[in-house]
Amino acid sequence: MDIQYRLEQKRKVLKDFPGPRSLELTARRAAAVAAGVASSVPVYVADADGGIIHDVDGNSFIDLGSGIAVTTVGASDAAVVGAVKEQVEHFTHTCFMVTPYEGYVAVAEKLNELTPGHHAKRTVLFNSGAEAVENAIKIARVATGRSAVVAFDHAYHGRTNLTMGLTAKAMPYKYGFGPFASEIYRAPMSYPFREENAQITGKEAAERAILTMSKQIGADQIAAIVIEPIQGEGGFIVPAEGFLPRLAEFAKENGIVFIADEVQSGFARTGEWFAVQHEGVVPDLITTAKGIAGGMPLSAVTGRAELLDAVHGGGLGGTYGGNPVACAAALAAIETMDSQDLRGRAREIEATVKERFGKLQAELGENGIIGEIRGRGAMLALEFVKRGSAQAKEPDAATTKAIADYCLKEGVIILTCGTYGNVIRLLPPLVINDELLNDGLDVLEAAIRAVA
Ligand SMILES: *Cc1c(COP(=O)(O)O)cnc(C)c1O
Repeated sequence: MDIQYRLEQKRKVLKDFPGPRSLELTARRAAAVAAGVASSVPVYVADADGGIIHDVDGNSFIDLGSGIAVTTVGASDAAVVGAVKEQVEHFTHTCFMVTPYEGYVAVAEKLNELTPGHHAKRTVLFNSGAEAVENAIKIARVATGRSAVVAFDHAYHGRTNLTMGLTAKAMPYKYGFGPFASEIYRAPMSYPFREENAQITGKEAAERAILTMSKQIGADQIAAIVIEPIQGEGGFIVPAEGFLPRLAEFAKENGIVFIADEVQSGFARTGEWFAVQHEGVVPDLITTAKGIAGGMPLSAVTGRAELLDAVHGGGLGGTYGGNPVACAAALAAIETMDSQDLRGRAREIEATVKERFGKLQAELGENGIIGEIRGRGAMLALEFVKRGSAQAKEPDAATTKAIADYCLKEGVIILTCGTYGNVIRLLPPLVINDELLNDGLDVLEAAIRAVA
């Protein structure tokens, strides 16, 4: 990695932030912005680059969240900024459904090339992850003539009506927002840390899910199985080895479209372009968004040509889908991921974090609060349990929040997640340098020691 940073990569926070300008903005916000939109950090951003975020009062924070796995190449990657500037000087929008342009086609070509499998592929572009997931299901329904869709425990697929239905967790994502779409079924996930039978294999966990599908729906009624290869909001859950391959095989045997939702796990984040590649799984459709375009809103459905081409002309689209500025940003971001070997960087980050926190876990002992350290590449999680509950593995959301709060106070932005709210997730920009990463991890380690 050879990155020229525009901003100094150094953490520096005043004791009593938020400062006056952030407080002023907080007051304006309270009077103007819907209360239903929450923010986890109480300061307002002035600038961001590499692994650093500057606020409007002169504080500098280490970013270990990447705006939820979006700014993989940083929030102002030089190549992305250059490509965006170049594009906006020519045209910001024409609508691909009216007067098309090359950028959209080039992004489709790139996605067809990078996604797993050598079969003929097609891509269609949208704006958000939820929109991509909805459209993947529309495509699967038309292509199969079936309507049932299977999602999993702990799943997160978005906040639109159909994707809320696919999402598992009620609060805050679904609570009060029903009724939800019909023909959505939920199957049991493989969650190795919380299996009742600790010996269950990935294949057996898949058979358990398959039994649910066969008995509650009937395999020949299912249009699609949609799954995050590593679950994001649900707790960075990595299914046991063999789970995903068996599900993909079951889908194939029964004419079911296997959709990998790689909105969070995709694009170099896990050390491969896509998380399914760790187990050699080739999905029929793959949804991408978040990290795809260096922070610009863009999403995609990529997959088997015969599935995407089964939809009637005009059946897919949207006013902004595949916006030319977002497409220019995506091509530049992918180029940066490649030229800077950010997949290799993700694997380095994994090694650093797992070694350090593995030692800490051992030191805290069997009854310590770190229940499990898991994840792939720079999509890593620490799951916290109540002290002394090594057997019961009682989730400890309060301690998890205390750790994140401690880190924030010291100037390190850390996100939590999980069905039980007891998981710290690490999603640093892959362009973060070692010094800054280690400084952020020092703070996290101190926070864990302070509460343990
Ligand atoms: C974030 C996310 C979505 C939704 O993406 P939006 O862009 O917020 O609509 C869907 N699936 C997964 C796995 C996600 O992490």
